[in-house]
Amino acid sequence: LESQLLQAQKMEALGQLAGGIAHDFNNILSVIGGYASMAQQGVPRDAPQAGYLAKIRQGVDRAAALTRELLTFSRQKVARTEVIDLGAVLRGQEFLLKPLLGATIDLSLRVPNHAVWVAIDPDMIAQALLNLAINARDAMPGGGPLTVRLGVAQGEVPPPGLEPGDYALLSVTDQGTGMPVDMLDRIFDPFFTTKPPGQGTGLGLAMVYGTVKQAGGMILVNSQPGRGTCFTIWLPLSTPPTEQRRTDLPSNTQTAP
Ligand code: ADP
Repeated sequence: LESQLLQAQKMEALGQLAGGIAHDFNNILSVIGGYASMAQQGVPRDAPQAGYLAKIRQGVDRAAALTRELLTFSRQKVARTEVIDLGAVLRGQEFLLKPLLGATIDLSLRVPNHAVWVAIDPDMIAQALLNLAINARDAMPGGGPLTVRLGVAQGEVPPPGLEPGDYALLSVTDQGTGMPVDMLDRIFDPFFTTKPPGQGTGLGLAMVYGTVKQAGGMILVNSQPGRGTCFTIWLPLSTPPTEQRRTDLPSNTQTAP
C-alpha cells in the first residue's frame, strides 16, 4: 500500500512538472514556428536558407507533437468521465487491435453478455487497453495467445487499498517473456522501458496506471519469467446511466443541436 501511495505521489509530481514544462514549451515553439514561417516567405525557394528554414519548421512540428503527448500524459487534458458499458468499449476495440497485433498473436476477447457499467473516460481506457495489448505482443515475438477478459467481482473482498464494493475486473494475459520480481516495482514508473530507443517511451504503463487511478481503481500485475504476464484492472462498478437525463428534458429539446 505504501508503494502504491508513493507511486501515486510520484506520478502526480511528474505529471505537474511535465504539464507545466510542456505548456511553456508549446508557447515557445509557436514563436519559433511563426518566425520561421515569416522568414520562409522572404527567401527564394531555391536558396539554401529555404532548406534550413524548412528543417526548422519540421523540428518545431515534431517537438509540438511530443509536447502534445506530454500534455495528455500529465492529465492537462481533462478526463471526460462518462458512465460506459466497458464490454461495449472493448468490443469496439477488437477491429483496431487485430491488425495492430498481427497474425501471430491469437487475440481472444471474453466479455459478458450483460453490460458492465463503469465511470471512466472511454478514450483513455481504450488507449490503456491498446498499451497493454502492444506490450503483450512485444513480449511474444514468436506469437502466442493474448486473452482480454472482462468480468465482475460482486461481494468479493477487493485488494488492499480499495474500498469494499462491486468492481469490474479487466485482465490482459499473455504467455510472453514475463518479468522478474524486481522489475515489477518499476514498470509503472514514467520513462521506465527495456525497449530499444525509438521503440519504447516507457510512458505506456504510466498512462494505464494514471487512467485506472483517476477512475478510483487499481492495477495489479502477476508475472513469471519465461511463462507470461497478467495485468488485472479493478474498476468500481457504476450504477447504470438512468433515463433521468432524457426524461428531465422537455421533449422538444431532444432535436436541438
Ligand atoms: P514501453 O512499452 O514503451 O517500454 P511501458 O510503460 O508500456 O513502456 O512498459 C515498460 C516496460 O515494462 C516494457 O519496456 C517492458 O520491459 C515491460 N513490460 C510491460 N508489459 C510487459 C509484458 N506484458 N510482458 C513483459 N514485459 C512487459
